[in-house]
Amino acid sequence: MNGKNKDCIFCKIIAGEIPSEKIYEDDKIFAFYDINPVAPVHVLIIPKIHIESLNGVNPENIGYVARILEKTPEIAKSAGIFESGYRVVTNIGEDGRQSVLHLHFHVIGGRKLTWSF
Ligand code: AMP
Ligand code: ZN
Repeated sequence: MNGKNKDCIFCKIIAGEIPSEKIYEDDKIFAFYDINPVAPVHVLIIPKIHIESLNGVNPENIGYVARILEKTPEIAKSAGIFESGYRVVTNIGEDGRQSVLHLHFHVIGGRKLTWSF
């Protein structure tokens, strides 16, 4: 489903109905700090339309995902981890341990990560 999902916590963050610590926003994407960081820097980047996961990407909405990848280094720079390095992860579905069903890319860094963060 595209557009806004009224029960989705990340759609509510985009709409400003739930507060977040925003780091970047443009017409297609929104980035904010994760409320439960797994490392010193943990940012989430999301499309401003409701795409459930990477499994929901299609030729119509790929522009949102492209924008996320295009802006990730700039957002990493704003978060202070561009030079030191970082990891970008998107969890998909149950085995991927996706807990919020609105596509999001975790940007994680600020220390040397292990494979499990
Ligand atoms: P995932 O487990 O990949 O679906 O990631 C969902 C992420 O969203 C988790 O890292 C949560 O800590 C984060 N999260 C959930 N609710 C909020 C919120 N209100 N503000 C910021 N991050 C959140
Ligand atoms: Zn949503």
